[in-house]
Amino acid sequence: MTAPKLTGLVRWPQRTATCCRRRQGVLFQITLWAILLLSLTGPLHGADLNEGRKLYRSGSYWECIETATGAIEQTPWIETWWKLKIQSQSQVGQYTAALQTVETGLKRFNTSIQLRWLGQELYRRNGMPEKALEMVNSIGELANQTPWRYSDATNRVILGRFFLLQGADPRQVLELAYDRAKKDQPQLADSWIASAELALDKQDFGLAQESLKEAAKLIPDDPEVHYLMARALAASDPVRATQSLEQAFKLNPSHIPSHILRIDRLIDSEQYEEARKALRVVLGVNIRHPSAWAYQAVLAHLSNDPESESLWQQASRQWNVDTANTDHLIGRKLSQKYRFEEGAHYQRQALQANPQHVRAQAQLAQDLLRIGKETEGWQLAEKVNEQDPYDVVAHNLVTLQEKLAQFTTLEEAGIVLRMDKREAQIYGQRAMKLLQRAKQTLCSKYKMEVAEPVIVEIFPDQKDFAIRTFGVPGGAGFLGVCFGKVITANSPASQGANPSNWEAVLWHEFCHVVTLQKTNNKMPRWLSEGISVYEERQANPSWGQPMDAQYRKMILDGELTPISKLSGAFLQPPSPMHLQFAYYQSSLVVGYLIKNYGIEVVHRILDDLGVGMPINESLQRYTGSLPDLEKEFEQFAQQQAKQLAPNLDWSEPELSPRPVLAEVKAWLEQHPRNYLALNGYAQLLMRNKQWSAAVEPLQLLLKEFPEDISSGCAYELLSEVYRQLKNLPQEQATLEQWIQRDNDALSAQLRLLEIYAEQENWQELARVAELTLAVNPLLTSPQQHLAAALTAMKQPQQSIPPLQALLALDPRDPADVHYRLARSLQETGKHSSARRHVLQALEFAPRYRDAHRLLLELAKSPKPVEAAPKPSSSPGRNP
Ligand SMILES: [Zn+2]
Repeated sequence: MTAPKLTGLVRWPQRTATCCRRRQGVLFQITLWAILLLSLTGPLHGADLNEGRKLYRSGSYWECIETATGAIEQTPWIETWWKLKIQSQSQVGQYTAALQTVETGLKRFNTSIQLRWLGQELYRRNGMPEKALEMVNSIGELANQTPWRYSDATNRVILGRFFLLQGADPRQVLELAYDRAKKDQPQLADSWIASAELALDKQDFGLAQESLKEAAKLIPDDPEVHYLMARALAASDPVRATQSLEQAFKLNPSHIPSHILRIDRLIDSEQYEEARKALRVVLGVNIRHPSAWAYQAVLAHLSNDPESESLWQQASRQWNVDTANTDHLIGRKLSQKYRFEEGAHYQRQALQANPQHVRAQAQLAQDLLRIGKETEGWQLAEKVNEQDPYDVVAHNLVTLQEKLAQFTTLEEAGIVLRMDKREAQIYGQRAMKLLQRAKQTLCSKYKMEVAEPVIVEIFPDQKDFAIRTFGVPGGAGFLGVCFGKVITANSPASQGANPSNWEAVLWHEFCHVVTLQKTNNKMPRWLSEGISVYEERQANPSWGQPMDAQYRKMILDGELTPISKLSGAFLQPPSPMHLQFAYYQSSLVVGYLIKNYGIEVVHRILDDLGVGMPINESLQRYTGSLPDLEKEFEQFAQQQAKQLAPNLDWSEPELSPRPVLAEVKAWLEQHPRNYLALNGYAQLLMRNKQWSAAVEPLQLLLKEFPEDISSGCAYELLSEVYRQLKNLPQEQATLEQWIQRDNDALSAQLRLLEIYAEQENWQELARVAELTLAVNPLLTSPQQHLAAALTAMKQPQQSIPPLQALLALDPRDPADVHYRLARSLQETGKHSSARRHVLQALEFAPRYRDAHRLLLELAKSPKPVEAAPKPSSSPGRNP
């Protein structure tokens, strides 16, 4: 899965570490902080400087160099010209020339910390880390010797950056450096930009947006501000984020950070050709740009070209401020493409180059946890957390690890299942059984033996799920995620009143285990999701998504995404509905491939992907040309859409915004088969309690469109109508039809439980109770009904698990549950366990007559030898 929206942080992480990060003595720091408390006004600039700035901001870097060179000859005492020249030279990759400009400039401005700041970076790019360190140290020394010289807003911002590099508390830097600079010189955009960069680094997107709004007022023509705004908006408002990025390009078509951001997204949505084109533009501006070469290496890796990958990796390292940054970036990107093993390998290379690279350590910790190398992963997370208490991911992981240590671990035939202790008691065995069944079915279908163990973790708290999965809270839309060997999932406890069928979720995720492992994690998103949703439907027709009125409309309105771009539909969909539709369409493509070319072709495609062949190439091998396949699939999907309730009229009714009953009735007389009008008419009749009249339109809907299980569907309405009419047989029949099609129609299942319990129809009661537990095993009533039905049907052995589950659910009458459990245990010959429970029943209710009687019976009956219970779980095991 692609990275979800990440919001709401626990703590600020540390700024990206660099090779020369070190801590200064306390006294030294105190003096430096004192500078930040001093106040002065900013420097003065010459009038024609605006022209120079304009050239720089618009991306006319070569012209800017020329103008600045001329200006330096004329007015060498204006430092800003030097800075503009150095920055422009850096933009076009003239790193050595830029360093020379710094060195010459420093001869004139020998106390400038601004030139030194630019210089330290250029020394590193030019492979002189010792000189860079000297330069950084001299910033501290100068500021310490003559604090008053650096107390103006511009220098205060530089000192803020310097302090961050030294590992200072970001909050203090924000307050004492940047906020103070804003106050002293509100017209200086630098302080707003520095604040925004710091906030972005700590993922505080709200603060970043506020700062950037102020910066945009001061320098609306600076592409940097719009680029940063695009980053700040990406998670919360993708549409405005795109607009901001477009604005940056409008102001400066050569703005490299904006291009890099776009390239990153293109790679996320698998638009590799577009990404390559954009990289050519960047390299046209700066042939030495380290990130551009790192992304080239990523693309080479993804197209299975190790030779180029290694070449581009070297090219990126050559001019990087820290060679570890190259490997960290390539690795992080590969991990985002689910290549966790390869990603981890790159992080290890990064750490060889710079063992202090905190981001590489944190990323490696996450990669290891995702590939199931847990001991090393947790150790590394702890190390990062100790080393850098501001690293949000490491901090969150370490906190989570303590919680996970309290989980119960169930182990069976290659699957390790970790659950909250109480939940494990309630449905641990059930979950394990389902996973084993999924493993058998899917491994045999895809001719695959999965690497063991497969680790499955189910979290009752959504926040813990998110931290385990993404490192930070957020990702509310995800029910489960699979990394290849590790599955993380939300338990029904965290899903509110209408949980999804957790059995379907685990089946879906296990299918990812099989297909990801079969392809060595080299899978396009759409195919991975498509197969998983398709397999849900194969396992149980009521699982997976059926076509509904909305999907029908989207297909017929031409909203299908071409197969070659289908993975992109998962990235930043315009609405949650579009994301759902991407899953649905993907499963439809898989269904189409299997129907027309057979499952063997899907096997072959997965094998091709496993050796690194791009998906579109593999598809063409077996289906002919990709454009033809796309056209044929579109026709197939349209045909499917047209076949959905073909006798219904799907037009939009021409009615007033809030039509009354008479108006709908009149319109319906002219359009008696209109889907929306029939449904609306029935609802209005129900609101007027005209129950009998509502039967006919709803029956018509059911007859013509039995597949409809959307919210407010005819099953839901008609069962309610029959209930009001006290027509139990019809109500029961409608509810039955409904639950056969909809796996998580919880309200229908609960109502059927009431009906069958009333009828003492034990067989049906047990069946529906099982279906209900597949949606929410944490509910008391289905467990109660299941136990009662099994006891009535004289199946004491089977009644034990639901009774044990009831005990874990804190029943209202624990004495009764203990007693019934004791009965079942006695009947299955487990006398000592039975005795334990009957005594517990008596602890709760000392005068419980039946319990006393059972205790006597147990005392009289000969004691059969009871095998010691085999511990199926090991609570408290450290993961
Ligand atoms: Zn999935």
